[in-house]
Amino acid sequence: MKRIRKISRNIKKQCMGMMLGAILALSGCGSGAIQEPTEVVSEETTEAEQESVQVMELELPDNRVDDNNRMYYEVFVYSFADSDGDGIGDLKGLTERLDYIEDLGCNGIWLMPVNASTTYHKYDVTDYYAIDPEYGTLEDFQAFLKECEERHIKVIMDLVVNHSSSKHPWFTEAAEYLRALSPEQEPDLTECPYVDYYHFVKGEADLSGYVKLEGSDYYYEAQFWDGMPDLNLGSEALRTELEKVMSYWLDMGVGGFRLDAVKEYYTGHPDESVEVISWIVDYCKSVKEDAYIVGEAWDSQNAIEHYYESGIDSLFNFPFAQSDGIIAKSIRSAGDGKAGRALAEDIVDYHTMIRDINEQASDAPFLSNHDVGRASGFLGPDLEKVKFGNAVNILMGGNAFLYYGEELGMVGSVKGAPGKDENKRAPMYWNDNGDDGMTAGPPDMDEVVHRFESYEQQKEDNESIYHYIRNIIRIRNAYPQIGRGIETVAQEIEDGDIVALWKEYDGESVLLLMNNSDQEKAVSIPERDGRKLELGAGLGISGEELTVEDGTLTLTPFGVAVLK
Ligand code: CA
Repeated sequence: MKRIRKISRNIKKQCMGMMLGAILALSGCGSGAIQEPTEVVSEETTEAEQESVQVMELELPDNRVDDNNRMYYEVFVYSFADSDGDGIGDLKGLTERLDYIEDLGCNGIWLMPVNASTTYHKYDVTDYYAIDPEYGTLEDFQAFLKECEERHIKVIMDLVVNHSSSKHPWFTEAAEYLRALSPEQEPDLTECPYVDYYHFVKGEADLSGYVKLEGSDYYYEAQFWDGMPDLNLGSEALRTELEKVMSYWLDMGVGGFRLDAVKEYYTGHPDESVEVISWIVDYCKSVKEDAYIVGEAWDSQNAIEHYYESGIDSLFNFPFAQSDGIIAKSIRSAGDGKAGRALAEDIVDYHTMIRDINEQASDAPFLSNHDVGRASGFLGPDLEKVKFGNAVNILMGGNAFLYYGEELGMVGSVKGAPGKDENKRAPMYWNDNGDDGMTAGPPDMDEVVHRFESYEQQKEDNESIYHYIRNIIRIRNAYPQIGRGIETVAQEIEDGDIVALWKEYDGESVLLLMNNSDQEKAVSIPERDGRKLELGAGLGISGEELTVEDGTLTLTPFGVAVLK
C-alpha cells in the first residue's frame, strides 16, 4: 500500500519470439501431461504490441516426493499476504496463496513464528499454544494445515525455545516472586517453579549476556534482548512443559520444527546445546516418526559439524549462504577457469562431512533468509548472477530453502540503511498497485525500491527470475538424485568453470552441470557404464532450453543441465 516502488526493467518483449516454436507448456509439478500452451497478455503492453506469450515449462519426468527431502519455502506471514485489509499478512491470506506456492514447485513451508508475541517478528513468544491474533485464529491455522495436507506440502513451524518473551506468564510470575523476596530469602521452587525456567542469578553484574531484573537483586540471562529472557533448558519441569508444546502442534498436523538459535541454548557451551537438540529431536520423532527438524546454528563449518552429532535431520548451511558465503564468492569469480570446479569440490566435502556423522542427515542450503541480505543485493545487479545463485542453492542437494520473494529477486537491503532487519522482511511484491493482498510491511521498514518487477509482471515474462526459478525447482523435483543423491566431482568434465557433479540415489545416477561463466561451453557428453548419457533437462539463464547435437551439449552462459 505504501513505500513500494519499482525500477522497471522491461525486458519482456526481447526474446519471446524466438522461444515460441520450441516450447511446450506442461502441467504443474512434473506430472508429465501435455497441455495446450497458455496464452497470457501483458497488461502493460498497448493494443498494437499485444501478442501471445507462451509460458515455458520444461518437459520433465514424473515428480517423486521424498518425504524428508523437500523444496521448502520460508514464509514471513506478516509480510506475505493480507486477507482483511489491515495491511498485516495473515494465515487466511497465506492459505489463499497456497496455489502460488504449490505451482512454484515447493512441497514444504517453513512458517516463521506464528505464536502470540509482542513484536511484529514474533520471535518473543508470550503463549506457545496460541496463534497471534494479528495472524488470525487457531481455526485459521487448522484450515491452513488442512489445505497444505491436501497438497502434500509439509509445514514446519519455528520453535523458539532458546528464550521466551519477558511478557510470558512464566517470566512475569517468576520476576514478581523474586522481587517480593527479602534479601536473606532464597527462592523456593515449590512456591514458584517458574524461577527454575530461566537463568536467574543474584548480584553478579559482570556476567556477559545477563541483565538486571529491575526492583530486585537478581540478574537474568538474555543473550539477544532484555525482552527475550533465555530459558533454562536444563530444567526438567520446563522440558515437560515444552514437550507438551511440541506434541500439541505435531498432533495437530505440523510436520516438524525449525529450531531457532540453537547455539544459544547454552551460549559458549556447544556440548550442552547439542544435548538439548538431541532431546528435542528424539522427543519429536517419538511423537511423529517422520518429523523433520532443522536447526539454526549460525556458525562455521567446524561448529556446524559438531551440532550434527545431535542426530538432527538438518542444520542450515550458513557457510554456503549470504553475501560472503561459498556460493556468492564462487559466482563473483565466475569465468576464472577454476571456481566451478572448486564449488563442486566444496559441495562434496560439505555433504561428506554431514554423512560421516549421520547417514540419515541431509544438508539445508539457503541463499538468504529473514536475517541476511537478499541475493539481488549481493549477486546483483546482474540478473544472470541472481538467477544462477538461486539455481546452485536449489540444485546443490539436501532440503533446499527459498526465502519468499527470492523468486522475484526482491531487494533486502536499502541504501542508507544496510543490515536493517525490517527491510529484509518487506512485503511480498505481488504487484505495483498495493492491492490484492499486498501487505504494508514491518512498522519501521524503509522505502523499499525493487530492482526487478513484481509477480504480476514477471509471470508474463519468460525471461523473468520467477519463471527461471520455477523451472529450476521443476528440474530439482523431477530428479530425486539432485536433492538426495550422494555426490562425487565429475572428473570427466575438465573445464574448471563448470560445476560438475555426479549424483547417485537408489542405484541411479545423473550428471548435474552448472556453467559458472558467461561463456558458452561445448560439452562432449560422457558415457556411463558403457552408455552415452542423454539430456534429461537443460535450462539457459534466459529461460531457453538447451540442446544436444552430435553428442555435444551446448551449455550456454550460466546454463544448467542434467544428463541421465
Ligand atoms: Ca490482515
